Amino acid sequence: MASIHTGRCACGAVSYEVRGPLRPVSFCHCESCRRQSSNFVSATAAPADNLTITGAENLSDWQATPDAVRQFCKTCGSLMFWRWNGASKISIMAGSMDRPTGLDAAKHIYVAEKGDYYDIADGLPQFDIRPPKA
Ligand SMILES: [Zn+2]
Ligand SMILES: [Zn+2]
Repeated sequence: MASIHTGRCACGAVSYEVRGPLRPVSFCHCESCRRQSSNFVSATAAPADNLTITGAENLSDWQATPDAVRQFCKTCGSLMFWRWNGASKISIMAGSMDRPTGLDAAKHIYVAEKGDYYDIADGLPQFDIRPPKA
């Protein structure tokens, strides 16, 4: 896998470069992601120190829960980043990444809260909430 990935929001006001390996993609079907994205969110993750953001002043923060913050473009609304408070890792929305990403998909989480108008049939592991901590 290439060691540098790039990405941007739909309008281009926010772009980024991330160095080093990326986590396989998780699909989050929780109610919050469903309402914010109109379906579900696809996210990879990397150490935050490996991420360089250009146009970060165009990001808006939403503290969806007391434990984590979501960041999206103020202009076009693209979901960009998600981070536990104080965590060293940051989630990066896979759909914002330039292709080819070289990413693989790994799992579906919060399936218990997904929309009732689609089925998940890709054979990947599904978890009602989150997988048990390894
Ligand atoms: Zn934008
Ligand atoms: Zn979610």
